[in-house]
Amino acid sequence: MSAKNEGAAAGADDKEGDQSESVDSQVESLRNFLGRFHLSAGSSGQEEKPKPEQLLKELTLEGIADFIKEGKCKKVIVMSGAGISTSAGIPDFRTPGTGLYDNLQKYNLPNPQAIFEIGFFKENPEPFFTLSKELFPGAFYPTPSHFFIHLLHEKGILLRHYTQNIDGLDRMAGVPDELIMEAHGSFHTGHCLNCNEMYTEESMREKIMADLIPRCAKCNETGVVKPDVVFFGESLPPRFPTLVSEDFPQCDLLIVMGTSLVVQPFASLIDKVPEMTPRLLINMEKSGKADPMMMMFGFPSGMDFDSDDKYRDVAYIGPCDEGCEKLAGFVGWKKEMTVLVNEGEAKKKKKGETESPTKDETAKTPTSATKDQKPKTSASPGKKSSASPTKDKKPSSKKD
Ligand SMILES: [Zn+2]
Repeated sequence: MSAKNEGAAAGADDKEGDQSESVDSQVESLRNFLGRFHLSAGSSGQEEKPKPEQLLKELTLEGIADFIKEGKCKKVIVMSGAGISTSAGIPDFRTPGTGLYDNLQKYNLPNPQAIFEIGFFKENPEPFFTLSKELFPGAFYPTPSHFFIHLLHEKGILLRHYTQNIDGLDRMAGVPDELIMEAHGSFHTGHCLNCNEMYTEESMREKIMADLIPRCAKCNETGVVKPDVVFFGESLPPRFPTLVSEDFPQCDLLIVMGTSLVVQPFASLIDKVPEMTPRLLINMEKSGKADPMMMMFGFPSGMDFDSDDKYRDVAYIGPCDEGCEKLAGFVGWKKEMTVLVNEGEAKKKKKGETESPTKDETAKTPTSATKDQKPKTSASPGKKSSASPTKDKKPSSKKD
């Protein structure tokens, strides 16, 4: 069966390779294009473009905070990756040895990424569902970074949250469904691979927690119900390109958090905001930096934190939660932020206390909660969560 793993190349370990390949091909097509005009790198064949106006007083976190405080942005886009969920305890499931894989030994996977390859899944869905049991919504809780995104929504300035995570922690933190674009899908819904019938998270949960493979009732259990997580070899959700083309041209502040910005098409979204729109990166390292080759030709292609021409990009290097809490503090939202985070902590604590002995709340307890109990409420629809395997998972789609 391993012969069918055509998506295997999209695995985590290959992401740098993929990227440089795509950059190479970009540069190559650029060369071809310029060749037609007998231009080459270093020639002055293009007019000097004036530097766009700098909207931030200073290119710092404080500068961003002032920009927000002074009401200069009303349409904030947040883009996030695994870094906003690491403090929730979500393991990097792609790294063998994290424990998540221990239960999968018996399946003899050709490689860890095979679990998320659609070709492999169709032949052998069991390993994915074994892993899903541990990652399924309910086992983890939102981080301060998620509550910060919720706060932006409360303040009425969140245009959209684009996330590569499939953990649903933003939803659990209270960000409304319609403001979330899960680029790599989620466990929120699922579909029969045979007849495409839709299933809810709750109906899949029951089966998965009972160590059963969810199958489709409509087609007499011939079809496997696959959660709508985007696998290697699958397209991004259809809503993604539509929203991107609507949202990014009107974005007046872009906040990028916890992502190394190497997976396309997600990574290139940062260049889709207007030229003057300030961009803040909160991450453990500077990511999304401009490609010098492309810049030489005057093409915008990434963040510019350090050059003499910098005018809008700000990097806060550190944990996402820390960056979000500092930013909230500078804007004057410290109190509200603390309230949200404390409420989240209280819920988590309460859940921890009530989960095994009582069944008063929902079926959203980690692992085996639903074995002998009907999840009577399935909880409020806006409160699902999940775990985030997709660090910088690379769906194969190239819609962009
Ligand atoms: Zn079906």
